Amino acid sequence: MFSRLDLPTVLLFYDTTLLAGALAIVHVRRSSCRPEGLMGLACAYLMLAAGAILAWKGEEAALPAAVWTHGSLLLGLAGYAAFYAGIRAMAGRRGVSEWWLFAPVLVCFVAGWVTGFPLDNLSRAGAFHAAAVLSLASSAYAMLRNYRVEALPSSRILAALLALSGIVYGVRLTFIVTGTAASAGFALAFFIQMFCHFGIALMVATISKERAEVRLARLAETDPLTGVGNRRWLTSRLPKQLRANSAILQLDLDRFKLINDQFGHAAGDAVLVAFADCVRSQLRESDLLARTGGEEFVVFTPDVSEAMAHAIAERLRACVERLQITDNGTPLPVSTSIGVAWVAAPAAPASACLSKADDMLYEAKRGGRNRVAFSRVSGHPQAVA
Ligand code: GH3
Ligand code: MG
Ligand code: MG
Repeated sequence: MFSRLDLPTVLLFYDTTLLAGALAIVHVRRSSCRPEGLMGLACAYLMLAAGAILAWKGEEAALPAAVWTHGSLLLGLAGYAAFYAGIRAMAGRRGVSEWWLFAPVLVCFVAGWVTGFPLDNLSRAGAFHAAAVLSLASSAYAMLRNYRVEALPSSRILAALLALSGIVYGVRLTFIVTGTAASAGFALAFFIQMFCHFGIALMVATISKERAEVRLARLAETDPLTGVGNRRWLTSRLPKQLRANSAILQLDLDRFKLINDQFGHAAGDAVLVAFADCVRSQLRESDLLARTGGEEFVVFTPDVSEAMAHAIAERLRACVERLQITDNGTPLPVSTSIGVAWVAAPAAPASACLSKADDMLYEAKRGGRNRVAFSRVSGHPQAVA
């Protein structure tokens, strides 16, 4: 079936998919929260389409050979350089500037003018296919690497499509090098490329959507002032049953209302930010810190002995006491009271631990503030010490 299709028809289909892909990517870029690389990708699609149009016109003998051969090769090479640059930027890779990717394109173009190799069909196709294989394989690798830091489902599909596209070009390159390229295979390869180009544009759009969803979910679970998690985030992360040797700490700033009243709401906000930073700096990666109310925070710290839980709470209290925050040169009095519920064996419901830590916080306030009140919790709420 593919052998019945002539090259201009195949190129027309091929161009249509590239132009549709470019349009889709430009559209996605307008509403994307992370548009990096999308313009590069759209330009890549457009350059590849322009290169294919030149080749098509060349096949129809509508252009001088020197124009369409050199032109289509330049656009093809630049297109695949822009393609890799776009995927790299989209994957968030830093390091070598993307512009350097165009240096080999320029070198190849100049070499083409000097030697005239693009006028030879096999040499021109060989150079184009080699560049495509390199670009697509590197792009697939960049996307897979990105999956390790940003596990979006579409990243793997995109990597697979990039790899498939690269493999098809690779197979064709071997046919070209061995001089066994058949027109049926040529058309089939173009159709697979069309499928891949459509798929790649679709996955680029889907990744943008998935990124927006992840961003929204993160925003919904983050306190905008301090950047720590909010109550919803804590609820989603906190196990329902807290294992033995873990602790819940309820922290509440002392006489915070006075700070607001005397120094203003902005000063109060600055205290909240400094407080959250201070507490966060004292915690481990595995600990959870959330702002659960106006000036109330909760810490969950797993795998701590009773003595360690005591020490952590005391360290947090001392760290907050040492905070030096001034308002027009006047130091603000900042301290915190902390209620701790430490889970003894076997395990205890998180709700019981939170409530016990709250009771302890109240104890600390009653005891004079700027202090820690500690309690053990066992599996049965009524067995609380
Ligand atoms: P205590 O030592 O008993 O905890 O006294 P307190 O003044 O800290 O307690 P209270 O609950 O009376 O005051 C909490 C204050 O926190 C009241 C409210 O205006 C303030 N607040 C709540 N959220 C924010 C916020 O986002 N920014 C600022 N600046 N203030 C806030
Ligand atoms: Mg308070
Ligand atoms: Mg309070």
